[in-house]
Amino acid sequence: AGRPDPLDLLGVDELLTEDERLIRDTVRAFTERHIRPHLADWFEHGTFPVREIAPELGKLGVLGMHLDGYGCTGSTATEYGVACMELEAADSGLRSFVSVQGSLAMRSIHAYGSEEQKLRWLPELAAGRAVGCFGLTEPEVGSDPAAMRTRARRDGGDWILDGAKMWITNGSVSDVAVVWAATEDGVRGFLVPRGTPGFTATDIPGKLSLRASVTSELAFDGVRLPADAMLPEARGLRAPLSGLGEARYGILWGTVGAARDCYRAAVEYARDREQFGRPIGGFQLTQQKLVDMALELEKAYLVAVRIGRLKDEGRAQPAHISFGKLNNVRTALEIARTARTILGANGITTAYPVLRHANNLESVLTYEGTSEIHTLVLGEAITGEAAYR
Ligand code: FAD
Repeated sequence: AGRPDPLDLLGVDELLTEDERLIRDTVRAFTERHIRPHLADWFEHGTFPVREIAPELGKLGVLGMHLDGYGCTGSTATEYGVACMELEAADSGLRSFVSVQGSLAMRSIHAYGSEEQKLRWLPELAAGRAVGCFGLTEPEVGSDPAAMRTRARRDGGDWILDGAKMWITNGSVSDVAVVWAATEDGVRGFLVPRGTPGFTATDIPGKLSLRASVTSELAFDGVRLPADAMLPEARGLRAPLSGLGEARYGILWGTVGAARDCYRAAVEYARDREQFGRPIGGFQLTQQKLVDMALELEKAYLVAVRIGRLKDEGRAQPAHISFGKLNNVRTALEIARTARTILGANGITTAYPVLRHANNLESVLTYEGTSEIHTLVLGEAITGEAAYR
């Protein structure tokens, strides 16, 4: 018996299988060793050394880890979720890299690519020797991707691609961009290798969030692509949207990690920091904050485990994923902000992770479907009425 673990009051960790706990420990040890010591510096300088880190993540087996074959690990959905939780406990930028590479770029090729496309790209991407990105959002088109303006038209046997994509994670460091474009017969996906004439990628300056992550604008100016650049099995907007479902699933786990890291920092600080002659954790107001954080953290963790099990049984629906994404990002952001108050002035620096997480989570609240859009998904699930337009 004794006191419950203050960092996991409800013992939700015990719901994980032995394999899942092994992945948790392995990924956590990796981030402690290779990532955490550098985060403050990367965040401050707005860099993420993709070329160094990607092969390490490849060795760890987390790139496309829930995909089968072609050098991928073939893990369960819950195992993948647990990995995302540990990656984002370090930084949302690290988890974003893994989500975009695995759930968006690799999964698009895995689900919709030809055998040649899969053989060409998946083993390289899984090993982290190549980097991928996923271009759906445009300068004028965010939540309503059906309005996309990027166009691909036939020219003999080739395709000509024109348009722009905005806010693309890994954009300027990618060896291959998965680009979604409107064509005569609906939205299709294209693989655009780095260096293709007419294709340029420029990083977006001035980000105050997700600084340890590459975010770029892609421009396509009469880019000529061979017929086999198109993903043959991706027809219509459903294709990119189903990829987003996969990445959102990773987020609902990842944000539990970010929240846990903030909560842990607050618990430790509340124990050590003394004011008015006693630890600040001895004040009722601080305890109230810690208790609220612990309740919400454990609830979010339970939501993640539940959705992971549903997904492993093939029963997770888009509304489940929206439930998890909306609840867990919101929870994590609230916990990060509250943790920041407990750390006082120290909370605003990179010496502690809390404001870094809070700033990152502002991006996570917006990307992969904004909190408003997920609210509308759930509103429709409850009422049967779609309120998007
Ligand atoms: P908008 O769609 O213009 O929305 C603005 C506001 O209006 C939001 O509050 C929104 O919820 C609200 N709104 C819109 N429609 C409705 C409605 N019907 N009802 C109520 N409210 C509504 N995209 C990619 O394709 N690939 C990537 O790799 C990628 N990485 C990203 C990385 C970062 C750091 C960020 C910040 C974004 C990234 N995105 C990426 C883009 C992201 O997916 C979009 O920002 C997101 O879809 C929202 O689009 P928007 O920013 O244009 O906002």
